[in-house]
Amino acid sequence: MLEHVKVEDYLTVALKLRPSSFFTIPAELPKGQQMGAKIDELCAKEYQAVIHASQKEKFSAINKLREKIQNLFETIVVRSTEYQAHQNWSKKLHIRTLKAKVRPSVHEIYLFLDPKIEKKLKKLMELRSLEIKKSLASVSNIQNLGLIYAEPSSEFVMLLGELLGYPICCINKYVRERFRERKSPEIRASQQLKAQGKGKIRNFHAYFTRNFFPCESFCVNATNMGKHIHNLMNEINPRLGDVYFSCLKANATTVEQYPLLMKQFREKLENKTLKMG
Ligand SMILES: [Zn+2]
Repeated sequence: MLEHVKVEDYLTVALKLRPSSFFTIPAELPKGQQMGAKIDELCAKEYQAVIHASQKEKFSAINKLREKIQNLFETIVVRSTEYQAHQNWSKKLHIRTLKAKVRPSVHEIYLFLDPKIEKKLKKLMELRSLEIKKSLASVSNIQNLGLIYAEPSSEFVMLLGELLGYPICCINKYVRERFRERKSPEIRASQQLKAQGKGKIRNFHAYFTRNFFPCESFCVNATNMGKHIHNLMNEINPRLGDVYFSCLKANATTVEQYPLLMKQFREKLENKTLKMG
């Protein structure tokens, strides 16, 4: 298991510091990249069949590909010892989990204690499934199937942010920028850090968990959250405090480099699409 998943996801939920958290599989499993590559490799024939199918055969070719990915995901990812380790941790910490499919080869694992959270998460995931179906229906370029990420709605982002324990000031700013002003909150957050000078981030605590973009690099609510978690981890064990502080630093650095990381991610996807046909 990756350390940041243990500390940021499992422990913050087990210690009731956040209502829920999530990590992505296979990406956030040790050897996750190899698992993803293996699935792609074993599905190469089915990908090719989709690309070269006539209009009449497309639907059945896509279904075959989807089914193959799902089966491989089950054997390669879900039955891996790396994923079993997660199930052992949730059992030991009495954490409930919910597996949500983003795409056949990408699932998110939500962690929480309260069964009421499960209900809310299930509703949210249903909402997202509908959104994904709608966006897939509008994809004209068939080559993108299975590779695209559906754009979430503002309602989804808002509700999920609350369930993940993000401060309301940060959620509101993110949603306002992204959906009303059509600006990128990720680029804004990166610029806020870059403005502090290269390699001179001064407030790591605001980046209390990954995939989170605080409204300001010194947002009081986000900083307090990071400090509270950090203090508690330190009290339990100073080594745990150190691990969490490394996570904070890595999170802030990821936000700072976000535009570059997204560019690299897009290039990787494009190469993958090219390779497949
Ligand atoms: Zn904020």
